[in-house]
Amino acid sequence: MAEYALMSRPGVRVYYFPADSAGARRVLEGAARGLALLERWFGPLGTDPDIVVMEIPEMWGSQASLAGGIIQTADAFRDAGRLFALYHELTHLWNAPDVDQPSARWNEGLATFLSRRMARVLDGWEGMDEAVQRTAQHLVDPQASPPQIASVPFLDYGDHGLTDLSYRVGFLMFWALHAALGDERFDGGLGSYYQENRERGGTFEALMEHLEARTSTALDEFFRDWVRTTAWHDRLRSGTPPEAIGLR
Ligand SMILES: [Zn+2]
Repeated sequence: MAEYALMSRPGVRVYYFPADSAGARRVLEGAARGLALLERWFGPLGTDPDIVVMEIPEMWGSQASLAGGIIQTADAFRDAGRLFALYHELTHLWNAPDVDQPSARWNEGLATFLSRRMARVLDGWEGMDEAVQRTAQHLVDPQASPPQIASVPFLDYGDHGLTDLSYRVGFLMFWALHAALGDERFDGGLGSYYQENRERGGTFEALMEHLEARTSTALDEFFRDWVRTTAWHDRLRSGTPPEAIGLR
């Protein structure tokens, strides 16, 4: 097992294999730029971040979200285009506690969308449209997704043990919501949700109510089709592009 070296700046520590110091610098820089971007979108975090990023050998596989830390495989330190897992975990810092029991884990869909949006803004990543298409195809492919996808609404994924789907369905939903609202209303709605519920937390229902009120946008049909029913699945299957689902 190689010895670790440490590189840090306030709020972020990166443990890396000495051979990968250029990658460690890029990860540290990526974390700093990511935190600054998220603060610009959603307002102050309100607590001091304490991010620990640790390089692990590639063969161990990527594993994110260990308590208090972000684990990145060596390839993330060597390949400039692979900061998605880091960005994903950074976005979770701006999550108000999720008090649904069990939870549909909509924050995972949001993190999936936001990490890709961050890569687009920070790194010039151009794969968003392809990711949307690929995800949509995957979700309507009966070989690739569980059959309950056509009958269990997103809101009930926690009750049905389907939260693996929350990443992909939530990605499409938040992507479509962002397309509908634009940066300002999307960020203002989510940012104020975080700021107001940072301590006490909130439910999926509370999020939907908040977004509708704060964006001054009628979103009842949008959430009906994406969250309360499986209309999104029917629409995707019949060829409707995800950005057109739930919107008049
Ligand atoms: Zn996550």
